[in-house]
Amino acid sequence: MTELLNKCRADAEAHALAEYPRESVGLVVSMRGKPSYVPCRNQSEEPDHFILHPEDYAAAEDRGGIIAVVHSHPDSGPEPSLHDIASHAVSRMAWWIVGLQDGIATWHEMPAGGEMPLEHRVFVHGSIDCYTLIRDYYRQERGVELLDFYRQDDWWHNGGDLYVENFAKAGFVETKTPSNGDVVLMAIGCPTPCHGAIWLDGDVLLHHLYGRLSCKEVYGAAFRERTTHFLTYRG
Ligand SMILES: [Zn+2]
Repeated sequence: MTELLNKCRADAEAHALAEYPRESVGLVVSMRGKPSYVPCRNQSEEPDHFILHPEDYAAAEDRGGIIAVVHSHPDSGPEPSLHDIASHAVSRMAWWIVGLQDGIATWHEMPAGGEMPLEHRVFVHGSIDCYTLIRDYYRQERGVELLDFYRQDDWWHNGGDLYVENFAKAGFVETKTPSNGDVVLMAIGCPTPCHGAIWLDGDVLLHHLYGRLSCKEVYGAAFRERTTHFLTYRG
């Protein structure tokens, strides 16, 4: 097995060099009990960043179990960035990072993590945002795995209406008054309802606003005025 995993590392290094100076991204997938490296497309337009193409992820998942998410750090060491640490925690998967300096590869490997606490999270759009908190709440409190949706930062200013377009697909229906664990949609700092929160008994919101830490706070007038929908989960 060690030999096969080393072959995966060698393949990932070759991929990282081929993609240089962009970050490479790939997956180590177990196929019939044997690990192999599957190169994936990096959708990010920024140089020091990666977004694994969702089709590549789905294709790799169909081929077998995913052992690790791999990406490269061109011209730097393999130590995880703050974004890497946050995204790794939320993914609950193992992450391998290959640093490339002067053509020499060094590795940093992070094992699959546990659950993130729901409060006091740092906001990272697309990986730790208001919808991540809703998904994690439903998984932790209800044992329900909600659909994930790929989301570009600032979608709310680019004609996107992701919550309204997708809540039915994710198993939610509208309700007049919220009960414990229901979702509240609000238009906060955006023309469409771009912010989702969990409503809790005691008229409290558990939510994660852009640029703030996730928290519980009173569902006060400022939030009520901006509320557009109450949603309850039907499955
Ligand atoms: Zn990184």
